[in-house]
Amino acid sequence: MDKIVDVTGGKGGNAFLILGEEKTALVDCGMAYCASNLISNIKQVLNTRTLNYILISHSHYDHIGAIPYLKKEWPNSEVLGAEYAKQILNRQNALNTIKSLSMQAAELYGADDLIEYDDALLKVDNSIGDGDILDLGGLSIKVIETQGHTKCSLSFLINNETLFPSETTGYMSKSGKIYPGFITSCSDAIDSIHKCQATNPRFIISPHFGLVNESDMLGYWTNCISAIKETKNFILHLSEQGYNEEEILTEYEKIFRDEQSRLEQPTNAFRLNAQGMIKTVLKEKIYTRNRPFC
Ligand SMILES: [Zn+2]
Repeated sequence: MDKIVDVTGGKGGNAFLILGEEKTALVDCGMAYCASNLISNIKQVLNTRTLNYILISHSHYDHIGAIPYLKKEWPNSEVLGAEYAKQILNRQNALNTIKSLSMQAAELYGADDLIEYDDALLKVDNSIGDGDILDLGGLSIKVIETQGHTKCSLSFLINNETLFPSETTGYMSKSGKIYPGFITSCSDAIDSIHKCQATNPRFIISPHFGLVNESDMLGYWTNCISAIKETKNFILHLSEQGYNEEEILTEYEKIFRDEQSRLEQPTNAFRLNAQGMIKTVLKEKIYTRNRPFC
């Protein structure tokens, strides 16, 4: 674990530096407003070394917003992500959305306006996919495709021991509660959780949280699945009572937008995620009735 260092630059978006004997990699980088803290944290750890890779778990702004600043600091670093993430970041409308959410987050977390945010630098240089292994010298990173939060979601397994599960599997809050993270597909998310569980990791670094302690490791994957089921049942129940998507969102927000969530996620991001989950549950309604798990 001493080869994995938390270099998170600010609330809402974690970043971890992985130190191989020859090369170094960053797993996610957090939001744009975190960039200057993030860079100084990385520099402190790297000392005279350079940053070789920036691995992205998916293309959402809270995981990749700091890339333009990292690319300015380390122009030779290579951004690696799923092929679908690469395509998304080639679209100007996606870049505009990321910029606007990044601005809102900067305001929420009390940072100044984003200075010199250049989204021409926000792209995936090379795509990676399921089963790919990155060798950092005495340390390997295995790529595991885990769709369900987005179509571009990737998990990373370090040295067959420490797993960075993607947000597809959910994310833990300080209370130990797991929030669901499926947006594009509930059934894919369940499959992805099983895929992560099968790697049998010794350590889990939960998205937006960090290292999971030993006692929370015990029921971790079961809790991820329960979180999906709870949300899904909540949405289906309201839908069967005649609530439309907007009304379900209002009810969802009343229950699930708790104090913890307010601290950790901007309102717009929370709503976008919730809207995605509601749409997906309603879309998969007929199909999933026939599936035992989801
Ligand atoms: Zn996300």
